[in-house]
Amino acid sequence: MEVIKVCFWITCISQLGYCIPQRDSKLLVVSFDGFRNDYFNRSLTPNLRKLIETSVFTSRLLNVFPTKTFPNHFSIATGLYVEDHGAIDSETMDVETGTVLTYGYELFHYNKNVTPIWTLNEMSNGSHHSGCMMWPGCGMDYQGIRNTYDVKYNESMTWNQRINTSISWFKHPQNPANLVMVYFESPDLEEHIYGPNSAQTDAQIRRTDDTVASILQALEVNDLTDVNVVFLSDHGMEAVTLPRIINLTDIINGLGLVVGTSPLLQIYPKKGKLEELYSKLHQYSQKNGNFDVYKKQDIPERYHYKNCKRAPPILAVAKPKYGFQDLYAYIEDVKAKYNVTVTNDTEFGVHGYDPDFPSMQPFFLARGPKFHSDFAAPNRTVDLFGLFADILGLHTTANVDKSPLKAPPFQVKVEDPGFTVRLVLFSLASSIGLATLFFVFILFQRRHSAQNMGYTLVDKDDSTI
Ligand SMILES: [Zn+2]
Repeated sequence: MEVIKVCFWITCISQLGYCIPQRDSKLLVVSFDGFRNDYFNRSLTPNLRKLIETSVFTSRLLNVFPTKTFPNHFSIATGLYVEDHGAIDSETMDVETGTVLTYGYELFHYNKNVTPIWTLNEMSNGSHHSGCMMWPGCGMDYQGIRNTYDVKYNESMTWNQRINTSISWFKHPQNPANLVMVYFESPDLEEHIYGPNSAQTDAQIRRTDDTVASILQALEVNDLTDVNVVFLSDHGMEAVTLPRIINLTDIINGLGLVVGTSPLLQIYPKKGKLEELYSKLHQYSQKNGNFDVYKKQDIPERYHYKNCKRAPPILAVAKPKYGFQDLYAYIEDVKAKYNVTVTNDTEFGVHGYDPDFPSMQPFFLARGPKFHSDFAAPNRTVDLFGLFADILGLHTTANVDKSPLKAPPFQVKVEDPGFTVRLVLFSLASSIGLATLFFVFILFQRRHSAQNMGYTLVDKDDSTI
């Protein structure tokens, strides 16, 4: 027994790292709402521009339809399209009860089997802890499990406070987080009010850039350079003006009900009025040319939207730079709250259009020990769940199986598989060699001491070796 122990420690000392338990990988995901993929070209983001050169980066991450905030943040967290996770828009109709759902438990629990990445992480291992800083869809139970750390959306909490709190979760002495997801509501907020080409939006782009630098500095100061960091956004933004608002009120009134906001109207016809209402909308879309209208079964497959109970009987989708009549009320609200003077040239921000339009697409930037310079950036928002799971060492079958169109889980590149194999073979060979040498040494010692004592080893109990 003693021999085995000695051999083990000789092996440990010779191979050093083998005796030290491997630490789990950590991941920080930071989302800047509505940061369009071409904002890097405005000369407002020196920190991000510098990071791009040394990070894994793409400016063309294909997000999910509709290109809105809640659907996309939930797709990032689950790897599912909206028809699978059910948060199909910022507001939608619960067809079972006939009530309109806005942000809340029901919106995100259409599919009870969905396991967001923060829940999967908590479930997988007693030492794994997740934290969400205002991430849409987080802050509620999934599979009966709640995150260790969570802060609900609160505009009044400063961005610095959010960073400091998130960092403290990684540093918690008893339950340190290994996954933290942080949400910032800008530049989206200012883009909606003042448009994507405004000075206010530019100021938020600068603020985003400063925040990225602050986060990286906070990680360094707190000895957290081993954290893998992902910066991303959920969608882009388009500018809409008053003359580009399409008013469907007169067509729909008396025949149906509208749920949702531009550029998507979810339309529920009154009983027996489906064909009549669709026919009128279709005729007008042909004449107007700036929006499409679909019956549920005809919504394009590539939107991954229609195979869901919550998908409406009729869906109207405006073309980029256009919106619907709900914007009239929004503009009145903006005028009252922000003292904005509105002319026919005044721009407002709208998103939610077809994800194939470049102006709707977000960016992805990643750095850290798991992201090597030759690592290929992911192409789609729905691939991020698999990527995050791989980094955290989690099994991903839970959600991937629910979506037949989902690609296989993203694989994190390992350093050099050939090197790993060579290292294992070398370790094995050297361990055997060292053990053999040790046995020879012990045998020599025993024989030497036995001879000194005047009798041989052959007939003796060797249990004392
Ligand atoms: Zn958003």
